[in-house]
Amino acid sequence: MTGTARSATGAVPGSVEVLVDRARAGDPRAVGRLITLVENGDPRLPELAAALAPYTGKAQVIGLTGAPGVGKSTTTSALVGAFRAAGHRVGVLAVDPSSPFSGGAVLGDRVRMQEHATDPGVYIRSMSNRGHLGGLAAATPQAVRVLDGAGCDVILVETVGVGQAEVDVASLADTTLVLLAPGMGDAIQAVKAGILEIGDVFVINKADREGADAAYHDIQGMIGLAARAPGEWRPRVVRTVASRQEGIDELVAAIDKHRQWLTTNDQLQQRRRQRAAAEVEAIVLAALRQRIADRGGLDQLAAEVVAGQQDPYTAARSILAELDRR
Ligand code: GDP
Repeated sequence: MTGTARSATGAVPGSVEVLVDRARAGDPRAVGRLITLVENGDPRLPELAAALAPYTGKAQVIGLTGAPGVGKSTTTSALVGAFRAAGHRVGVLAVDPSSPFSGGAVLGDRVRMQEHATDPGVYIRSMSNRGHLGGLAAATPQAVRVLDGAGCDVILVETVGVGQAEVDVASLADTTLVLLAPGMGDAIQAVKAGILEIGDVFVINKADREGADAAYHDIQGMIGLAARAPGEWRPRVVRTVASRQEGIDELVAAIDKHRQWLTTNDQLQQRRRQRAAAEVEAIVLAALRQRIADRGGLDQLAAEVVAGQQDPYTAARSILAELDRR
């Protein structure tokens, strides 16, 4: 075992099983190396997933999403403090589809997380798009598995923006928090972006600013108008001033309420089955993309489609038939 996290080639040293054992014993460097394997789309991922499988499924996964500047990392940090005070081990994944940086690079700037940087009960990691074929859609759930297997009781997954195909935080989380701030035309934006459907809890952050009450009532009004089956969860709305830790207890209480609803209605299992299906699908799609790349891509066929010598359906069928034969 070398003293550095990665060798010059970017390969992660150490056997996967040893790393899993060390991660489970609480070694943050081992956790970091496992997430790097995930991020790089390492060929040992199947081995890693198999080694983690017996230890996963215990963590509570909470997604946070919202526009840049709305206060996601401030709120995440405040939530980490609250969950730590309750004695939980906490993992944080900050996922940024637009950033080419990863690991320390982004976190170096995340001063709002610094207060937790030396707490051994908190593991914080940012993830970005490394450009491998599965992308963040495949990598993020696997990184959640690593943190779950490493014994985190609560995992906070923070992503920028909503409704992006790249990382669908709602399908990843047990409970999804949508953050809004006053004065950003949020209520209208919310409807446009379809976030009313994904939010389990809406957080009006920066409640110290003018317009917070209006935003609160707008969102409440929209939730009231939405059609809901009997017994269905009615999203909660919470006002916070994350920079002063205000409203965080209420936010934790709303998250707890949602969790109770999930467990008493068998929704938790249902959500997790959907999540597992999405994971499997992402892996299948990544494998298909890899096989297409291995056959030399689609340039030749694409040229034939453009030239009108083939239609796209015939081209697609010939690819599927060819992959079947291999
Ligand atoms: P993110 O981009 O969504 O992660 O937002 P940040 O957490 O980085 O916060 C953006 C800015 O808003 C920072 O300067 C924070 O200090 C500030 N901020 C966060 N929460 C509040 C709040 O409740 N009230 C006010 N006035 N500012 C806040």
